[in-house]
Amino acid sequence: MLSENITINSAGHLCFAGHDVCELAQRFGTPLYLMDEGRIRENCRVYLNAFRKNFGENAMPAYASKAASFRRIYEIMREEGMGIDVVSSGEIFTAVKAGFPMEKSMFHSNNKTDADIRYAISCGVGCFVVDGEDELLRLEQIAAEQGHTQRILLRLTPGIDPHTYEAINTGRVDSKFGTAIETGQAMPLIRLALEQKHIELAGFHCHVGSQVFEEDVFQRTANIMVGFMAEVRDELGFTAKILNLGGGYGVRYVESDPAADIGARIGEVAEHIRAVAQKHDFPMPFIVMEPGRSIVADAGMTVYQVGAVKRIPGYKNYVSIDGGMGDNPRYALYGAKYTVLSGNRALEEADFPCDLVGRCCESGDIIQPEILLPSATCRDDIVCVCTTGAYNYSMASNYNRVPRPPIVMLRDHDAYVAVRRETLEDIAALDV
Ligand SMILES: *Cc1c(COP(=O)(O)O)cnc(C)c1O
Repeated sequence: MLSENITINSAGHLCFAGHDVCELAQRFGTPLYLMDEGRIRENCRVYLNAFRKNFGENAMPAYASKAASFRRIYEIMREEGMGIDVVSSGEIFTAVKAGFPMEKSMFHSNNKTDADIRYAISCGVGCFVVDGEDELLRLEQIAAEQGHTQRILLRLTPGIDPHTYEAINTGRVDSKFGTAIETGQAMPLIRLALEQKHIELAGFHCHVGSQVFEEDVFQRTANIMVGFMAEVRDELGFTAKILNLGGGYGVRYVESDPAADIGARIGEVAEHIRAVAQKHDFPMPFIVMEPGRSIVADAGMTVYQVGAVKRIPGYKNYVSIDGGMGDNPRYALYGAKYTVLSGNRALEEADFPCDLVGRCCESGDIIQPEILLPSATCRDDIVCVCTTGAYNYSMASNYNRVPRPPIVMLRDHDAYVAVRRETLEDIAALDV
C-alpha cells in the first residue's frame, strides 16, 4: 500500500487509519475528507525530534498551514509544539481562534494589504516574512503608527531550480516571491531594512519549491544563503540570527514516488549547514523549516460515491463521482498525480481503465485520468483518492454551487467532525 495507514479489512473494504471507509461514508455522507489525526501528529514528531536531535533548542519546524487550514489543525500544532506559517488574515484569524501562540507564527505573502499588516500586528504575529521594498516601507509606517517594533525576516530568492512543477517552483530569480540575491537587489534592501526604526531584522527566508525529492536541494540552498549571510555581515556589519529554509519535502502520491526519510535528510542538512557556517566563520543560525504537505498530505483521504460509469467502446471510459475539482482542483491546476482505490471492492482486481471525473460542468474537471478500478465498479460504489490531506480542502471552491465536504478526523477509536459539511443555506448565505 501507498501508506501504512491504508489497509483492507475482511469485508474487502478499504480502511483508513483503521476505520472502514464504507462505514464512514454511510455515517458522514459523501464526498468526505478524512484526516488521520495520529498520522498528523507522527509527521510533526518526525520534524520535532529531528530538529531537537540535530539543532538542539536553536531551531523550529513551522507547519505551512496553507496546506490545510482549519481550527482543529492549529490546535494540534499548538499541542505538538510546532510553529506555523500563515499567509493571510483568514489563516491568522483561524489560528487565533484555536488559541495558537501567535509569537510562534510567521506571516508570508508577496502582497500583504494594509489591513493584513494591521491585523497581523494586532494579533501579535511573531515574525513577518517581508517580500520586498513596498511591504517593508509600509510595514515600517504602520508599525510606527502603532508604536510597535515588528520582527521580520526578508524573503530572498537564492536562484535554485529544484526540478519540480513550474507552478510550485519559487526559488528562481524570476519568481514572483522574494528579492533576488543574484541581481544585487538583496543587499540594498537589507540596508534599507536595517535603517527602519520600527523593524527588527532577524534574518532571512527562502523557499525553493514544493514536492522536492532531490536530496541536496536544502544543502545547495544553504550554501548560497549562509554564504550570502557572511557577505552581509562583512559589508553591513549585520549578523543574521535566523535562517528559514522554507518547506517542501516531497510526499508519495503514487507508488513510484520515493519515500523520503525526512529525519535522516534533516540530519544531513544540519551537518551541512554547520560545515558551511564554520567555513565562513559564521555563528550557527536558528534554523526554521516550513513543511506543509509532508505534515498533512498522507494523513488525508477523500471518499466519494460513484454516480455513473460511462463506457465509450473503442474510445475510453469514465467513472463520475459526487465531488470533483471543487474539492480537489490539483489535477486541473497542475496535473497532480493521485492513487485511486475502490472503497468497497478493495480486494477485486483493478483492471478497468477509466478517467475519474467530477460532477462539475467543465471537461477539465478530472480528478485523475487513466486509472484502473475493478471492472464491476458501478453506481453507489465507494471510490477513494489517497494523499489528499494537503492543498485539497484548503483549495476547495463552491464552483457550480456545490457545497464543500466536511473534514472528519480519525483517532484510534473514534471519528469526529472537525469541519462540518456546507449546506445549501451556507451556499446562498452571502447573497444579499
Ligand atoms: C507552500 C509553502 C511551504 C510549504 O510547502 P510544502 O510543499 O507544502 O511543504 C513552505 N513555505 C512557503 C513559503 C510556502 O509558500
